[in-house]
Amino acid sequence: MGISDRVRQSMAEGSWIRKMFEEGSALKQRYGSENVFDLSLGNPVMEPPTEFTRELRKIAENPSPGMHRYMENAGYPETRAAVAEQLSQETGIKFTMSDIVMTCGAAGALNVVLKTLLNQDDEVILFAPYFVEYENYIANHNGMAKVLTTDEQFIPRLDALEAAIGAKTKAVIINSPNNPTGIVYSEELVRQMGEMLRRKEAQYGTEIFLLSDEAYRKIIFDDLRYPSPLNHHPQTIIVTSHSKDLALPGERIGYIAVHPDCSQRGDLLNGLIFCNRILGYVNAPALMQHIVRHLQSVTVSVAEYQQKRDFLYGHLVGLGYSVVKPQGAFYMFPKSPVEDDVAFVRELQQWKVLTVPGRGFGSPGYFRIAYCVDDRTLEGALAGFRKAAQKFNLC
Ligand code: PLP
Repeated sequence: MGISDRVRQSMAEGSWIRKMFEEGSALKQRYGSENVFDLSLGNPVMEPPTEFTRELRKIAENPSPGMHRYMENAGYPETRAAVAEQLSQETGIKFTMSDIVMTCGAAGALNVVLKTLLNQDDEVILFAPYFVEYENYIANHNGMAKVLTTDEQFIPRLDALEAAIGAKTKAVIINSPNNPTGIVYSEELVRQMGEMLRRKEAQYGTEIFLLSDEAYRKIIFDDLRYPSPLNHHPQTIIVTSHSKDLALPGERIGYIAVHPDCSQRGDLLNGLIFCNRILGYVNAPALMQHIVRHLQSVTVSVAEYQQKRDFLYGHLVGLGYSVVKPQGAFYMFPKSPVEDDVAFVRELQQWKVLTVPGRGFGSPGYFRIAYCVDDRTLEGALAGFRKAAQKFNLC
């Protein structure tokens, strides 16, 4: 009684990240948080860049009348124009403010897009491993998630994608740089994917949206350039936020960008703006919109994340772990030395190292490390990784 069957079931299935978080909290209470090495959450330890504090101070000292009022559901025109300008520069595609809808984070953006697009039982294709909330968000809007596996390097298999697309396929979600693997898709992969989607659109007489989750687009290493799917499929919708690139996850500020050449673009944008309203978000937070308007070209220190990646990757490989080297974001997804990833994560817990089993991301047999933590935590976790490696004869 009380809560709905659907919510009860989803809660029972639960989230491994949540579960690890709760078990980690118990460990911290027992042993003291300085003795527990928590690599379970994608909650960046870095503070926002100094430019953020500067803008925050500026606005607090010079408030303008009405700055906390409701606004257009799509967001402030000036903020949307600033986002459009930045995207145009990055992609070479001419965006205007009318292509942009400001949202409550990337999570809000995903829900708004899925609500706008999906009819009952429309299919949305995902590639495992994937950000676990995708399945909840698709179910929120009565869609069906269709999960495809990836290859050994976590790259989507195009033949599997081709076979999976049918008349009910409404969207394909891609996430590069990826949570949980840190993998960045190549230009060639994105080009081939776009080409295939257009072939399938022609075959079924449908539109298939490429929903590109770019929450980590600006956290990319080794001087790689981000290959934008916008350049390869006009039915592309970007969802992203400043949760990671400006380290503002608690502030809930993100946006949707629709490709200017998207068919029925006007209809789609009106639908997105309407759904932003009726899902109850109403509009993205006003104060944050005022601020991020001035920070479109600013990013947290990517070099610092790269150093953390290098440190952890070097040590894990040295200990015998099998790891695909991440090229962005702040996650690593090593192979579990034993088949049962939950058992391995529990083993690491014995050494007070908290990670998340791969099955929490649709890929059993792996575990996820979030390395957006301070260096002391990373260094402290190494002893546990070493003990676990010794136990399973990796070294
Ligand atoms: N998409 C991915 C791949 C994520 O990792 C996250 C958060 O960790 C989100 C979306 C949600 O981001 P936000 O906090 O901006 O809603």
